[in-house]
Amino acid sequence: MSEHSQSFIAKSADKAADREHRRKINFNIGKYNAVVPKGKEQFINVNLAREKAKNLKWKAIENLDKMLESFEAKITKRGAKVIWAEDAKQALEEIGKICAEKNCKTLVKSKSMVTEEIHLNKFLEGQGIESIETDLGEYIQQLDGEPPYHIVTPAMHKSKEDVAKLFAEKLGTDPKLTPEQLTLVARDVLRKKYAEAEVGITGANFIIADIGGIAITENEGNARLSCSMPKTHIVVAGIEKVIPSMNDLALFWPLLATYGTGQKITVYSTIVTGPRQEKETDGPDEMYVILLDNGRTNILANEKSRESLYCIRCGACLNACPVYKNIGGHSYEATYSGPIGSVITPHLNGMKEWKHLSYASSLCGNCTEVCAVKINLHELLLENRHEAVDEGDSSFAERTGWKLWKQAMLKRSLMNMGNRTIKNWVVNTLLKGWKEHRSEMEFPKKSFNQMWKEKYGNR
Ligand code: SF4
Repeated sequence: MSEHSQSFIAKSADKAADREHRRKINFNIGKYNAVVPKGKEQFINVNLAREKAKNLKWKAIENLDKMLESFEAKITKRGAKVIWAEDAKQALEEIGKICAEKNCKTLVKSKSMVTEEIHLNKFLEGQGIESIETDLGEYIQQLDGEPPYHIVTPAMHKSKEDVAKLFAEKLGTDPKLTPEQLTLVARDVLRKKYAEAEVGITGANFIIADIGGIAITENEGNARLSCSMPKTHIVVAGIEKVIPSMNDLALFWPLLATYGTGQKITVYSTIVTGPRQEKETDGPDEMYVILLDNGRTNILANEKSRESLYCIRCGACLNACPVYKNIGGHSYEATYSGPIGSVITPHLNGMKEWKHLSYASSLCGNCTEVCAVKINLHELLLENRHEAVDEGDSSFAERTGWKLWKQAMLKRSLMNMGNRTIKNWVVNTLLKGWKEHRSEMEFPKKSFNQMWKEKYGNR
């Protein structure tokens, strides 16, 4: 068992027994569940919208090379610089070089899971650069020294009392502040940082191929400030974020808002197509776009798992997953948690070390049911298990157990050889692990085959 797997099991067992954690998660997911149906009302046929979005992502991913080249050609013409990074190390080196060139001491950052994936804040800290998270949820997590708990709502596991206590400890505020007052405190701290920062970093919700732009969707205006106030704007985006055309945003923006937070559209929707142009008054002097692979082409090369690159990171599958709701986001110890995290992490970080996540599912299919772009998540989890076994990542006991089971299942006479006591022993004692989380299996006195024979003879 890998180290990650052992740690995952230990953390999951702890969280699953934590009633307070469950109360907070149920409360916050309950609020989400209440508003999503309202967001869906804006679509005449929400299923058709999801289907169309899936088809558009299919088109984008099947033509990824051409789409990215079109993006690069268009945005470069307007003065942005595009950098292709094969892995996290290359992306960090490039960011380090830009920051050194700009003599950057303070950097503002908007919410971006891909910068979590490359551990950007830790890297910047090592370079002596102060990196400030400007999304409120991310800022709370940064103050607490924790990674995001959820891909859309990073501090979902904290109550308002938890946040007030944290602000009191870290910023010396009154522990009884209301959520509105806490927001004003954060706003006060962050506003000063935008003016100080030499560099602003954002992610991209979508990379728009036809016009050469990036689309950012948010509710606080912090991403817009991060990309327009500092003199240098760096975008870090996974290559799969591409969509064919700006016109497609008419579908993707409302879809992401509805499945992400139950909104019809988020408060701020921004398209950036380059640095400040001549005669423009706002915007950065320079813009860099780092297109990150970091294992995504492994997924692209895999015909079955390729579909997982359609993900628009709405977080709906996390909110619907019975496993996620019980064990929480941090137990996964991966940047991307929940069903989509369990599908892509083994491909991004290595099947041997991370295959256990694909087993952390009841295969109930709820994730597939709610996915904004209709990714067959539960089938991809099964596919990962299949690949892990094909690659030889299964124990001797498991392989032997299934071999025997297959032989027995294919031959009635073999199945009839063992009586009830033997069958009970095989399942409850020989197949170690069966009883760990289940009650003992009790075979009936007579098998179905015996009962059939008694009733109908050998027909
Ligand atoms: S897999 Fe689907 S439901 Fe899950 S985050 Fe991605 S788009 Fe949303």
